[in-house]
Amino acid sequence: MLGSLRVDGKRIKLPKIGWVKMFQELRSEGKILRVTLSKTETHRWFGSITVDTGTPNVRRDTRGLPVVGIDVGINSLATLDTGKHYDNPRPVKRYERKLAREQRKLSRKVFLSNNWYKQKERVAKLHYKIACIRNDAHHQATTEIVNMASAIGIETLSITNMLKNRKLAKALSDSALGGFLSKLKSKAEVLGIPVIEAPHFFASSKTCSKCGYVKEELSLSERIFHCEFCYTSIDRDQNAAINLKNLAVGYTES
Ligand SMILES: [Zn+2]
Repeated sequence: MLGSLRVDGKRIKLPKIGWVKMFQELRSEGKILRVTLSKTETHRWFGSITVDTGTPNVRRDTRGLPVVGIDVGINSLATLDTGKHYDNPRPVKRYERKLAREQRKLSRKVFLSNNWYKQKERVAKLHYKIACIRNDAHHQATTEIVNMASAIGIETLSITNMLKNRKLAKALSDSALGGFLSKLKSKAEVLGIPVIEAPHFFASSKTCSKCGYVKEELSLSERIFHCEFCYTSIDRDQNAAINLKNLAVGYTES
């Protein structure tokens, strides 16, 4: 059916569908092998184009690039061992009130009426918008990180356990940390960059990154890590990221 597909960089012509506007130019040159069209629940169409560039994927030379430790969290999406923060867009929070309002309107419509369908579409679009903002932030941050690292240290998130904590649950599902980590891992894999996941018992937050002293308690409200042993004071997330970096350095050296 797609045999007569033409690509001129801007528009593609699909038989039985017609001209389709492309939002970005093809990033690779070569023979087009396959075009996959998909439709989302909110009636948006996506096209994905597979191109044979003729050259095999070459692993990037990462010599000279640092090992990067990443702490993912709620306050900021990710913090690197260097102290760099990637902010969470927290889209649900921003659109929460709007969504709640539209959902309330939906509940007042006559079930399965024309107006109900229209309102349902409005709610779906809002959900979609939120997902896009979240995805965009994740893609930008993960691409930047994998491009500057020779190896990456992260923690293993037992998200299911954290979701049992109701206070954390909302913020966590909002920032969708799991989606962030899986994007990071798949991009790192393509580039051949090792990702070292800390074991579950690894206390990345409670350990002092300077002297190794492990605190017994560290409440979520403590944003600064104060070490009782060497008197270091450091941003809590950065401290955790340094510990994850050190762990990854140990793995890659051995
Ligand atoms: Zn210390």
